[in-house]
Amino acid sequence: MEYSQKVVVEKLPSSQDSDDSENSSNFRRVRFRNTFPESEKEVKRGVVGLSNLGNTCYMNSVLQAIRHIPEWIQLNTRGTLKEHENKEKPECVEVLDAFADLQKSLWAGSSPSYVYPKGFYKTLETVVRGTMYEQFVQRTPQDAHEFLVWLLDQCYMASQYTVDFSIFPVAEKYPIVREAVEFWKHSFEKQYSPLTDLFFGLYRIRMECQRCHTSFTRWETFNSMKVTPLPSGTLYEAIQSELKDEVIESYACEHCKAEPTNRPNAVKKIRIWKLPKVLILTLKRFDYMGNRLNHVVGLENSNTYHFTNYFDDESHEKSKEMSYHITSTIDHYGHSMGGHYSAQCFSPIYKQWYKYDDETVYKLDLPYVGPQNYLFVLRQGTYESQISAKNEKSD
Ligand SMILES: [Zn+2]
Repeated sequence: MEYSQKVVVEKLPSSQDSDDSENSSNFRRVRFRNTFPESEKEVKRGVVGLSNLGNTCYMNSVLQAIRHIPEWIQLNTRGTLKEHENKEKPECVEVLDAFADLQKSLWAGSSPSYVYPKGFYKTLETVVRGTMYEQFVQRTPQDAHEFLVWLLDQCYMASQYTVDFSIFPVAEKYPIVREAVEFWKHSFEKQYSPLTDLFFGLYRIRMECQRCHTSFTRWETFNSMKVTPLPSGTLYEAIQSELKDEVIESYACEHCKAEPTNRPNAVKKIRIWKLPKVLILTLKRFDYMGNRLNHVVGLENSNTYHFTNYFDDESHEKSKEMSYHITSTIDHYGHSMGGHYSAQCFSPIYKQWYKYDDETVYKLDLPYVGPQNYLFVLRQGTYESQISAKNEKSD
């Protein structure tokens, strides 16, 4: 079988990095390599891989998974994030810019090809040097979830600004709704970003004292949900188990004010108050000993999910019964201290699933569901794609 694949290098962020004279306006073609199967040789715009710079498959799969989120594409093409550039966080802006440049190259290229993400990596090296995130440029295996949270945080901080939240009169009528809105306002009014509504949700956490039956509420924002895969369990069961009520012993109830030796038990209830438009769901694939949990999380073939059952009864969002669908997966093969990552992404342009495995991209009939699934990116709205229940071997 004959193979051919062109390699492109992303546009470099600054001119002093341009050590190559063949730099064109967008990106330059460097060389040809023979790694792309002939059968996959359809010319498709944006269906472009990323070369591995040495254990960077975790990074590549995250970059591919994020760049396929339609709302993310819109924010970037409209320059919305750039518009709100936060001058107080220049290093975050650098990451955001480098990621934007890399995405431009990826969407401008056509299959069969891949981008050598030199500019992005260089920026990363500068930004994380001397910080607790230096590990991302040490060319050692890293955790894709950690990198994803870090990258979104950088983009979030790079586009933060102050907003005026006004609380609608309707919220005044319901004290608990008002409390939720005020917490949201307090959390984001000084640091709002176009990414806030895209990635952040809100939990209501209630502690119910078992002696006086008083209930205390606290709130918590979140930008990813971590669940444990269960033996022959579904995604719903994994979420259910994560949000199940928990008995807390010796609770310092503000109402009972009991002595430390005589404190009552309380029941802790976590419920969703608000879900983001894009929900990042990570599977805890390793236990505290580093042993891999190989359970397959059963997905719906229709690729339609409703989280209504996990909402707080008093949340007005519950009645909206919004549906979600998986739009990318990040998959991990092997043990906790290494292994390999790849991503499966639904192309919003071609309405087609692709597997991104570093340089190589495969067209998929349906994405693979199996013990390798590590992270799901779910998106609010009606589904456009299906998910296959067929399994892929974990190795
Ligand atoms: Zn009490």
